[in-house]
Amino acid sequence: MLWGKTWWIGSFSASIWNLASALRSLWYIHVNKEILWVKWIHGNYLKYRDIWHVMAKKGDSWMWRQLIKCRDKPLNVTGGIDNLKQILSTCYKNSKMQLSAVYTVFSPVSHIVPWYNTVWGKLNFPKHLFVLWLAMQNRLFTQDILLRRGAINTNACLLCAGAASESRNHLFFDCSYSRDVWLTIMDWLKMN
Ligand SMILES: [Zn+2]
Repeated sequence: MLWGKTWWIGSFSASIWNLASALRSLWYIHVNKEILWVKWIHGNYLKYRDIWHVMAKKGDSWMWRQLIKCRDKPLNVTGGIDNLKQILSTCYKNSKMQLSAVYTVFSPVSHIVPWYNTVWGKLNFPKHLFVLWLAMQNRLFTQDILLRRGAINTNACLLCAGAASESRNHLFFDCSYSRDVWLTIMDWLKMN
């Protein structure tokens, strides 16, 4: 279903991407990677404790508390520390964590999120959310709408070199250029 998939990629995936990014930070702390901020965390927060067990305290920085929060959800989903470590270790190549691989592990590809979850989910970027909301109501200022309002007097899609007129449906579904962009992004995220 094109709608479901498109919006799902457009916004919901941002939360999984954020999760993957947090897991990468946790993994770097776990392997004590030779990076300044990792050393700093070991010296200031961990003090020889384990990143998978440490609890955030009152007075700890917001970033640190968020990181610990991001740790607990995938721990539950994967069924524990050993499982999560094993999964993450498969995403770690040449001393680098492959974000797209972590993303793939935690993205329920077959799961189509209902629209209201997609739009009003807590971890979306406000700007994406707003554009999505406008697009759903066909209130984006695309050229067909501007033409109807008399604001412009031509209507040609600039992305696919003026071969078609620009409307919401054209931009999101029919335009050959945006289609190529979507396919590239899906390929990058290893999605079918
Ligand atoms: Zn086009």
